[in-house]
Amino acid sequence: MTEPIKTLPLVFEEPRGRGKPPQHLADLTAAERKARLEELGLPGFRARQLSTHYFERLVDDPAQMTDLPAATRDELVAGLLPDLMTALKVQEADKGATRKTLWKLFDGSLVESVLMRYPGRVTMCVSSQAGCGMACPFCATGQGGLQRNMSTAEIVEQVVSGARALARGEVVGGPGRVSNVVFMGMGEPMANYNAVMGAVRRLTDPAPDGLGMSARGITVSTVGLVPRMKQLADEGIPVTLALSLHAPDDELRNELVPINTRFSVAETVEAAWDYARKTRRRVSIEYAMMRGINDQAWRADLLADVLNGYGDWGWVHVNLIPLNPTPGSKWTASDPADEREFVRRLEAKGISTTVRDTRGREIDGACGQLAAVES
Ligand code: SAH
Repeated sequence: MTEPIKTLPLVFEEPRGRGKPPQHLADLTAAERKARLEELGLPGFRARQLSTHYFERLVDDPAQMTDLPAATRDELVAGLLPDLMTALKVQEADKGATRKTLWKLFDGSLVESVLMRYPGRVTMCVSSQAGCGMACPFCATGQGGLQRNMSTAEIVEQVVSGARALARGEVVGGPGRVSNVVFMGMGEPMANYNAVMGAVRRLTDPAPDGLGMSARGITVSTVGLVPRMKQLADEGIPVTLALSLHAPDDELRNELVPINTRFSVAETVEAAWDYARKTRRRVSIEYAMMRGINDQAWRADLLADVLNGYGDWGWVHVNLIPLNPTPGSKWTASDPADEREFVRRLEAKGISTTVRDTRGREIDGACGQLAAVES
Protein backbone atom coordinates (compact mmCIF):
# COMPACT_ATOMS: atom_id res chain seq x y z
CA MET A 1 0.00 0.00 0.00
CA THR A 2 1.65 3.24 -1.09
CA GLU A 3 -0.92 5.76 0.05
CA PRO A 4 -1.45 6.52 3.72
CA ILE A 5 -4.14 4.30 5.14
CA LYS A 6 -6.91 6.35 6.64
CA THR A 7 -9.49 5.11 9.05
CA LEU A 8 -12.51 4.07 7.07
CA PRO A 9 -16.06 3.80 8.31
CA LEU A 10 -17.17 0.19 8.62
CA VAL A 11 -19.10 -0.05 5.40
CA PHE A 12 -16.03 0.82 3.30
CA GLU A 13 -13.73 -1.72 4.90
CA GLU A 14 -11.80 -4.02 2.64
CA PRO A 15 -13.11 -7.57 2.74
CA ARG A 16 -10.68 -9.84 4.55
CA GLY A 17 -8.45 -11.52 2.24
CA ARG A 18 -7.17 -14.39 0.37
CA GLY A 19 -3.79 -12.69 0.28
CA LYS A 20 -2.67 -9.62 -1.55
CA PRO A 21 -2.01 -9.21 -5.27
CA PRO A 22 1.70 -9.27 -6.17
CA GLN A 23 3.40 -5.94 -5.64
CA HIS A 24 4.19 -4.23 -8.91
CA LEU A 25 6.00 -1.04 -9.85
CA ALA A 26 2.66 0.59 -10.65
CA ASP A 27 1.80 0.27 -6.94
CA LEU A 28 4.83 2.34 -6.02
CA THR A 29 6.21 5.82 -6.44
CA ALA A 30 9.55 6.20 -8.23
CA ALA A 31 11.41 6.41 -4.90
CA GLU A 32 9.62 3.33 -3.56
CA ARG A 33 10.51 1.33 -6.69
CA LYS A 34 14.17 2.06 -6.16
CA ALA A 35 13.94 1.11 -2.48
CA ARG A 36 12.13 -2.11 -3.38
CA LEU A 37 14.88 -3.23 -5.76
CA GLU A 38 17.54 -2.44 -3.17
CA GLU A 39 15.58 -4.46 -0.62
CA LEU A 40 15.80 -7.38 -3.06
CA GLY A 41 19.56 -6.88 -3.35
CA LEU A 42 19.26 -5.42 -6.87
CA PRO A 43 20.56 -2.09 -8.14
CA GLY A 44 18.00 0.66 -7.47
CA PHE A 45 18.78 2.59 -10.64
CA ARG A 46 17.26 -0.21 -12.69
CA ALA A 47 13.83 0.88 -11.46
CA ARG A 48 13.78 3.74 -13.93
CA GLN A 49 14.58 1.40 -16.83
CA LEU A 50 11.81 -0.96 -15.76
CA SER A 51 9.40 1.97 -15.46
CA THR A 52 10.35 3.14 -18.95
CA HIS A 53 9.61 -0.31 -20.36
CA TYR A 54 6.29 -0.47 -18.58
CA PHE A 55 4.86 3.04 -18.96
CA GLU A 56 6.68 4.50 -21.94
CA ARG A 57 7.67 1.73 -24.33
CA LEU A 58 4.73 -0.41 -23.24
CA VAL A 59 6.91 -3.51 -23.46
CA ASP A 60 5.85 -6.59 -21.56
CA ASP A 61 8.21 -9.22 -22.94
CA PRO A 62 11.41 -9.35 -20.83
CA ALA A 63 13.34 -10.49 -23.92
CA GLN A 64 12.83 -7.01 -25.37
CA MET A 65 14.32 -5.30 -22.32
CA THR A 66 17.81 -5.50 -23.76
CA ASP A 67 19.17 -2.61 -21.69
CA LEU A 68 18.85 -4.81 -18.60
CA PRO A 69 21.74 -7.21 -17.96
CA ALA A 70 20.77 -10.70 -19.09
CA ALA A 71 22.01 -12.19 -15.82
CA THR A 72 19.60 -10.25 -13.59
CA ARG A 73 16.81 -9.47 -16.04
CA ASP A 74 14.49 -12.18 -14.77
CA GLU A 75 15.06 -11.17 -11.17
CA LEU A 76 14.41 -7.51 -11.95
CA VAL A 77 11.24 -8.35 -13.82
CA ALA A 78 10.05 -10.71 -11.07
CA GLY A 79 10.77 -7.99 -8.51
CA LEU A 80 8.87 -5.10 -10.08
CA LEU A 81 6.91 -6.42 -13.05
CA PRO A 82 5.20 -9.61 -11.85
CA ASP A 83 2.24 -10.87 -13.89
CA LEU A 84 -0.91 -9.39 -12.39
CA MET A 85 -3.66 -10.75 -14.58
CA THR A 86 -4.44 -12.94 -17.54
CA ALA A 87 -6.82 -12.04 -20.34
CA LEU A 88 -9.32 -14.91 -20.56
CA LYS A 89 -11.42 -13.48 -23.33
CA VAL A 90 -11.62 -10.46 -25.65
CA GLN A 91 -14.97 -9.63 -27.24
CA GLU A 92 -15.43 -7.03 -29.94
CA ALA A 93 -18.34 -4.90 -31.10
CA ASP A 94 -18.73 -1.86 -33.38
CA LYS A 95 -16.46 -3.57 -35.92
CA GLY A 96 -13.66 -3.72 -33.37
CA ALA A 97 -13.93 -0.15 -32.07
CA THR A 98 -15.31 -1.52 -28.79
CA ARG A 99 -13.35 -4.30 -27.08
CA LYS A 100 -14.24 -5.88 -23.78
CA THR A 101 -11.59 -7.94 -21.96
CA LEU A 102 -12.34 -10.46 -19.23
CA TRP A 103 -9.41 -10.67 -16.79
CA LYS A 104 -8.51 -13.31 -14.27
CA LEU A 105 -6.62 -11.92 -11.28
CA PHE A 106 -3.99 -13.79 -9.22
CA ASP A 107 -6.59 -15.25 -6.84
CA GLY A 108 -9.09 -16.22 -9.53
CA SER A 109 -11.23 -13.08 -9.16
CA LEU A 110 -12.69 -11.96 -12.49
CA VAL A 111 -13.02 -8.37 -13.69
CA GLU A 112 -13.68 -6.66 -17.01
CA SER A 113 -12.42 -3.59 -18.83
CA VAL A 114 -13.71 -1.99 -22.01
CA LEU A 115 -11.79 -0.05 -24.67
CA MET A 116 -13.87 2.33 -26.78
CA ARG A 117 -12.37 4.01 -29.81
CA TYR A 118 -14.05 7.15 -31.12
CA PRO A 119 -12.86 9.51 -33.82
CA GLY A 120 -10.03 11.40 -32.14
CA ARG A 121 -10.09 9.72 -28.73
CA VAL A 122 -9.87 6.38 -26.99
CA THR A 123 -11.59 5.78 -23.66
CA MET A 124 -10.70 2.92 -21.35
CA CYS A 125 -13.44 1.96 -18.92
CA VAL A 126 -11.78 0.22 -15.97
CA SER A 127 -12.84 -1.78 -12.94
CA SER A 128 -11.73 -0.80 -9.45
CA GLN A 129 -13.17 -3.76 -7.51
CA ALA A 130 -13.91 -7.38 -8.29
CA GLY A 131 -17.67 -7.19 -7.95
CA CYS A 132 -19.38 -4.33 -6.11
CA GLY A 133 -20.96 -3.95 -2.70
CA MET A 134 -23.36 -1.15 -3.57
CA ALA A 135 -26.21 -3.48 -4.64
CA CYS A 136 -27.98 -1.18 -7.12
CA PRO A 137 -30.80 -3.43 -8.36
CA PHE A 138 -30.57 -2.39 -12.04
CA CYS A 139 -26.83 -3.05 -12.35
CA ALA A 140 -25.47 -6.52 -13.18
CA THR A 141 -22.28 -5.96 -11.17
CA GLY A 142 -24.33 -4.99 -8.13
CA GLN A 143 -26.13 -8.32 -8.17
CA GLY A 144 -23.02 -10.40 -7.55
CA GLY A 145 -21.79 -8.60 -4.43
CA LEU A 146 -18.22 -7.60 -3.65
CA GLN A 147 -15.38 -10.08 -3.95
CA ARG A 148 -12.51 -7.74 -3.18
CA ASN A 149 -10.80 -4.43 -3.77
CA MET A 150 -8.32 -4.27 -6.63
CA SER A 151 -4.79 -3.01 -6.09
CA THR A 152 -3.47 0.16 -7.71
CA ALA A 153 -1.38 -1.88 -10.15
CA GLU A 154 -4.32 -4.11 -11.08
CA ILE A 155 -6.29 -0.99 -11.97
CA VAL A 156 -3.41 0.60 -13.88
CA GLU A 157 -2.63 -2.61 -15.78
CA GLN A 158 -6.05 -2.50 -17.44
CA VAL A 159 -5.14 0.88 -18.95
CA VAL A 160 -1.58 -0.12 -19.84
CA SER A 161 -2.86 -3.23 -21.55
CA GLY A 162 -5.21 -1.11 -23.67
CA ALA A 163 -2.34 1.28 -24.40
CA ARG A 164 -0.19 -1.65 -25.54
CA ALA A 165 -2.86 -3.00 -27.85
CA LEU A 166 -3.28 0.46 -29.35
CA ALA A 167 0.45 1.12 -29.69
CA ARG A 168 0.88 -2.18 -31.48
CA GLY A 169 -1.90 -1.41 -33.91
CA GLU A 170 -4.05 -4.29 -32.63
CA VAL A 171 -7.16 -2.11 -32.47
CA VAL A 172 -8.96 -1.14 -35.69
CA GLY A 173 -8.13 2.38 -36.77
CA GLY A 174 -4.37 1.97 -36.57
CA PRO A 175 -1.86 2.80 -33.85
CA GLY A 176 -3.18 5.10 -31.14
CA ARG A 177 -3.09 6.13 -27.50
CA VAL A 178 -5.45 6.05 -24.55
CA SER A 179 -6.74 9.60 -24.10
CA ASN A 180 -9.44 9.03 -21.46
CA VAL A 181 -9.97 6.72 -18.53
CA VAL A 182 -13.33 6.31 -16.84
CA PHE A 183 -13.75 4.49 -13.53
CA MET A 184 -17.09 3.16 -14.72
CA GLY A 185 -16.34 -0.53 -14.90
CA MET A 186 -16.99 -2.95 -12.05
CA GLY A 187 -16.91 -1.65 -8.52
CA GLU A 188 -17.39 1.54 -6.55
CA PRO A 189 -14.15 3.51 -6.87
CA MET A 190 -14.78 5.62 -3.79
CA ALA A 191 -15.07 2.43 -1.70
CA ASN A 192 -11.50 1.57 -2.76
CA TYR A 193 -10.29 5.11 -2.38
CA ASN A 194 -6.58 4.72 -1.70
CA ALA A 195 -5.93 2.25 -4.50
CA VAL A 196 -7.98 4.34 -6.94
CA MET A 197 -6.10 7.51 -6.03
CA GLY A 198 -2.84 5.61 -6.45
CA ALA A 199 -4.01 4.61 -9.92
CA VAL A 200 -4.99 8.19 -10.78
CA ARG A 201 -1.50 9.28 -9.74
CA ARG A 202 0.19 6.60 -11.86
CA LEU A 203 -1.95 7.52 -14.85
CA THR A 204 -1.07 11.21 -14.50
CA ASP A 205 2.56 10.97 -13.32
CA PRO A 206 4.82 12.09 -16.19
CA ALA A 207 6.60 9.28 -18.06
CA PRO A 208 8.49 7.19 -17.22
CA ASP A 209 7.10 7.27 -13.65
CA GLY A 210 3.56 6.99 -14.99
CA LEU A 211 1.52 7.19 -18.17
CA GLY A 212 1.59 11.00 -18.31
CA MET A 213 -2.13 11.43 -18.97
CA SER A 214 -4.03 14.63 -18.26
CA ALA A 215 -6.19 14.49 -15.10
CA ARG A 216 -8.92 16.14 -17.13
CA GLY A 217 -9.18 13.01 -19.22
CA ILE A 218 -9.96 10.90 -16.16
CA THR A 219 -13.47 10.46 -14.77
CA VAL A 220 -14.22 8.93 -11.39
CA SER A 221 -17.81 7.79 -11.10
CA THR A 222 -19.47 7.21 -7.73
CA VAL A 223 -22.78 6.23 -6.19
CA GLY A 224 -22.14 9.15 -3.83
CA LEU A 225 -19.94 8.20 -0.89
CA VAL A 226 -20.05 11.71 0.52
CA PRO A 227 -16.96 11.65 2.77
CA ARG A 228 -14.88 10.35 -0.11
CA MET A 229 -16.23 12.95 -2.52
CA LYS A 230 -15.13 15.61 -0.05
CA GLN A 231 -11.72 13.99 0.25
CA LEU A 232 -11.38 13.87 -3.54
CA ALA A 233 -12.14 17.60 -3.74
CA ASP A 234 -9.15 18.24 -1.49
CA GLU A 235 -6.65 16.09 -3.42
CA GLY A 236 -5.76 18.82 -5.87
CA ILE A 237 -6.03 16.45 -8.85
CA PRO A 238 -8.62 17.87 -11.24
CA VAL A 239 -10.29 14.64 -12.36
CA THR A 240 -13.87 14.78 -13.58
CA LEU A 241 -16.36 13.60 -10.99
CA ALA A 242 -19.46 11.72 -12.13
CA LEU A 243 -22.28 11.13 -9.68
CA SER A 244 -24.70 8.28 -10.36
CA LEU A 245 -27.86 9.96 -9.16
CA HIS A 246 -30.67 8.18 -11.07
CA ALA A 247 -33.43 9.85 -9.04
CA PRO A 248 -33.91 13.37 -7.64
CA ASP A 249 -35.98 12.24 -4.63
CA ASP A 250 -34.96 10.13 -1.64
CA GLU A 251 -37.94 7.82 -1.84
CA LEU A 252 -37.00 6.44 -5.25
CA ARG A 253 -33.23 6.82 -4.87
CA ASN A 254 -33.32 4.73 -1.67
CA GLU A 255 -34.56 1.90 -3.85
CA LEU A 256 -32.36 2.43 -6.90
CA VAL A 257 -29.12 3.32 -5.13
CA PRO A 258 -29.34 1.77 -1.65
CA ILE A 259 -26.44 3.81 -0.20
CA ASN A 260 -28.89 6.73 -0.42
CA THR A 261 -30.36 5.55 2.88
CA ARG A 262 -27.04 6.62 4.38
CA PHE A 263 -26.35 9.76 2.30
CA SER A 264 -29.46 11.56 1.10
CA VAL A 265 -29.96 13.20 -2.30
CA ALA A 266 -29.45 16.61 -0.70
CA GLU A 267 -26.17 15.62 1.00
CA THR A 268 -24.93 13.87 -2.12
CA VAL A 269 -25.72 16.68 -4.55
CA GLU A 270 -24.25 19.17 -2.10
CA ALA A 271 -21.00 17.15 -2.08
CA ALA A 272 -20.99 17.18 -5.90
CA TRP A 273 -21.51 20.94 -5.85
CA ASP A 274 -18.73 21.27 -3.31
CA TYR A 275 -16.45 19.37 -5.69
CA ALA A 276 -17.37 21.65 -8.59
CA ARG A 277 -16.92 24.77 -6.47
CA LYS A 278 -13.52 23.75 -5.16
CA THR A 279 -12.07 22.35 -8.39
CA ARG A 280 -13.97 24.51 -10.91
CA ARG A 281 -14.55 21.26 -12.76
CA ARG A 282 -17.99 20.59 -14.12
CA VAL A 283 -19.59 17.56 -12.49
CA SER A 284 -21.50 14.93 -14.48
CA ILE A 285 -24.76 13.53 -13.17
CA GLU A 286 -25.42 10.02 -14.45
CA TYR A 287 -29.08 9.12 -14.79
CA ALA A 288 -30.08 5.73 -16.23
CA MET A 289 -33.48 6.17 -17.86
CA MET A 290 -35.85 3.42 -16.65
CA ARG A 291 -39.27 3.19 -18.19
CA GLY A 292 -42.01 4.23 -15.80
CA ILE A 293 -39.59 4.29 -12.86
CA ASN A 294 -37.57 7.50 -12.91
CA ASP A 295 -38.39 9.03 -16.31
CA GLN A 296 -41.55 11.05 -15.54
CA ALA A 297 -41.70 14.68 -16.64
CA TRP A 298 -42.17 15.82 -13.04
CA ARG A 299 -38.96 14.07 -12.05
CA ALA A 300 -37.10 15.93 -14.80
CA ASP A 301 -38.41 19.20 -13.34
CA LEU A 302 -37.48 18.13 -9.84
CA LEU A 303 -34.00 17.05 -10.96
CA ALA A 304 -33.42 20.45 -12.57
CA ASP A 305 -34.67 22.24 -9.45
CA VAL A 306 -32.42 20.18 -7.19
CA LEU A 307 -29.37 20.91 -9.35
CA ASN A 308 -30.28 24.58 -9.78
CA GLY A 309 -30.37 24.91 -6.01
CA TYR A 310 -26.60 25.31 -6.20
CA GLY A 311 -24.33 27.22 -8.59
CA ASP A 312 -25.51 28.81 -11.80
CA TRP A 313 -22.26 28.82 -13.80
CA GLY A 314 -23.04 25.57 -15.59
CA TRP A 315 -21.42 23.54 -12.79
CA VAL A 316 -23.29 20.42 -13.75
CA HIS A 317 -24.05 18.37 -16.82
CA VAL A 318 -26.62 15.59 -16.97
CA ASN A 319 -25.79 12.39 -18.83
CA LEU A 320 -28.87 10.30 -19.49
CA ILE A 321 -28.05 6.63 -20.07
CA PRO A 322 -30.73 4.52 -21.76
CA LEU A 323 -31.04 1.57 -19.35
CA ASN A 324 -29.08 -1.42 -20.58
CA PRO A 325 -30.68 -4.81 -20.10
CA THR A 326 -29.31 -6.99 -17.30
CA PRO A 327 -30.27 -10.56 -16.40
CA GLY A 328 -33.28 -10.83 -14.15
CA SER A 329 -34.00 -7.10 -14.13
CA LYS A 330 -37.66 -6.17 -14.44
CA TRP A 331 -36.81 -2.72 -15.78
CA THR A 332 -36.37 -1.55 -19.35
CA ALA A 333 -35.20 1.57 -21.13
CA SER A 334 -37.49 4.57 -21.37
CA ASP A 335 -39.73 5.25 -24.31
CA PRO A 336 -37.80 7.54 -26.69
CA ALA A 337 -40.59 10.12 -26.52
CA ASP A 338 -40.35 10.22 -22.71
CA GLU A 339 -36.60 10.51 -22.98
CA ARG A 340 -36.93 13.47 -25.36
CA GLU A 341 -39.38 15.17 -23.03
CA PHE A 342 -37.02 14.59 -20.08
CA VAL A 343 -34.17 16.24 -21.99
CA ARG A 344 -36.42 19.12 -23.06
CA ARG A 345 -37.49 19.85 -19.49
CA LEU A 346 -33.96 19.77 -18.12
CA GLU A 347 -32.76 22.08 -20.85
CA ALA A 348 -35.72 24.40 -20.41
CA LYS A 349 -34.49 24.90 -16.85
CA GLY A 350 -30.96 25.60 -18.05
CA ILE A 351 -29.36 22.20 -17.36
CA SER A 352 -27.06 21.00 -20.12
CA THR A 353 -27.98 17.43 -20.98
CA THR A 354 -26.80 14.68 -23.30
CA VAL A 355 -28.02 11.18 -23.94
CA ARG A 356 -25.09 8.79 -23.78
CA ASP A 357 -24.22 6.89 -26.91
CA THR A 358 -24.08 3.43 -25.41
CA ARG A 359 -21.34 1.15 -26.66
CA GLY A 360 -20.99 -2.59 -26.43
CA ARG A 361 -24.51 -3.64 -25.45
CA GLU A 362 -24.34 -6.74 -27.65
CA ILE A 363 -21.24 -8.01 -25.82
CA ASP A 364 -22.62 -7.10 -22.37
CA GLY A 365 -19.96 -4.41 -22.24
CA ALA A 366 -22.20 -1.39 -21.68
CA CYS A 367 -22.86 0.52 -18.44
CA GLY A 368 -24.13 -1.78 -15.74
CA GLN A 369 -23.67 -4.96 -17.74
CA LEU A 370 -20.24 -6.03 -16.51
CA ALA A 371 -20.69 -9.24 -14.61
CA ALA A 372 -17.40 -10.98 -15.40
CA VAL A 373 -18.66 -14.48 -15.94
CA GLU A 374 -16.69 -17.15 -17.73
CA SER A 375 -18.81 -18.74 -20.41
N1 SAH B 1 -20.07 2.37 -8.87
C1 SAH B 1 -19.80 3.52 -9.69
C2 SAH B 1 -19.05 3.14 -10.93
C3 SAH B 1 -19.85 2.34 -11.93
S1 SAH B 1 -20.18 3.41 -13.23
C4 SAH B 1 -21.08 4.25 -9.99
O1 SAH B 1 -22.14 3.69 -9.73
O2 SAH B 1 -21.03 5.40 -10.43
C5 SAH B 1 -21.39 2.62 -14.11
C6 SAH B 1 -22.50 3.57 -14.46
O3 SAH B 1 -23.48 2.82 -15.17
C7 SAH B 1 -23.16 4.12 -13.22
O4 SAH B 1 -23.63 5.41 -13.44
C8 SAH B 1 -24.30 3.14 -13.07
O5 SAH B 1 -25.32 3.63 -12.26
C9 SAH B 1 -24.72 2.95 -14.50
N2 SAH B 1 -25.49 1.72 -14.71
C10 SAH B 1 -25.55 0.64 -13.92
N3 SAH B 1 -26.38 -0.28 -14.43
C11 SAH B 1 -26.87 0.23 -15.58
C12 SAH B 1 -27.74 -0.24 -16.57
N4 SAH B 1 -28.30 -1.44 -16.47
N5 SAH B 1 -28.00 0.56 -17.63
C13 SAH B 1 -27.42 1.76 -17.73
N6 SAH B 1 -26.57 2.27 -16.84
C14 SAH B 1 -26.30 1.52 -15.76
